[in-house]
Amino acid sequence: MSMASSPADDRSPSASRSKPASAAPRILVVEDEAALGLLLSYNLEAEGFVVEHVERGDEAELRLQESPPDLVILDWMLPGLSGLEICRRMRAREATKTLPVIMLTARGEESERVRGLTIGADDYIVKPFSVPELMARVRGLLRRLAPERLSSTLAFGDLGLDRENWRVNRAGRDIHLGPTEFRLLEHFMTKPGRVFSRAQLLDAVWGLSAEIDDRTVDVHVGRLRKALSVAGERDPIRTIRGAGYSFDETFGKSAQSDESGQ
Ligand code: CA
Repeated sequence: MSMASSPADDRSPSASRSKPASAAPRILVVEDEAALGLLLSYNLEAEGFVVEHVERGDEAELRLQESPPDLVILDWMLPGLSGLEICRRMRAREATKTLPVIMLTARGEESERVRGLTIGADDYIVKPFSVPELMARVRGLLRRLAPERLSSTLAFGDLGLDRENWRVNRAGRDIHLGPTEFRLLEHFMTKPGRVFSRAQLLDAVWGLSAEIDDRTVDVHVGRLRKALSVAGERDPIRTIRGAGYSFDETFGKSAQSDESGQ
């Protein structure tokens, strides 16, 4: 089996349009459960990462030798070559010696997990896990081990978001957002122009297991809009009737040309 593509692939040209390809950290997902691999790819792409998904250990080993990513999410039990062995080999090679690794393990592999860490995984997460938790681990690990690969600020036009300090400003003025509105804006700003359905926003911001009504999304998007436009500025969020919401990808550009007086 070759690389599976994520469901987002045909809808958006990944990160290439909104930012240079080199700006987005690359993540290799090695997971033989196809559904889980897709779920992870989809969510990582929604966070602005460039994702490659392989289902076999020996394939992962090849990819790691050809083109090491910025982080690996590595399942423990894999066909071809085990996650443990992949990790051991990575640590033995100069090019991948310090590459961040998050190991996925099944419940009940407690002693195995300890082995994983001693063999060089940087973190582990036990299945079943929540997607937002894994996303937080990925960001945490990149921040700790490869901070240059994770942009801590997102900026469009007069709008800036500081991921590290959880601050947002517009035209130099601090904007106070609740945690949900902050995560919504962060999610929108990592994929400008992409339309997110309410269900996708629920998954990404509240988590898959959250039992929340779709209308909750509308309420929080409404609050976010209100907070961003207190002085009557242009609304950067678009409502796409029958589809959902997106961050207007022309927002930064037109704001910049306004400022330059053209
Ligand atoms: Ca497995």
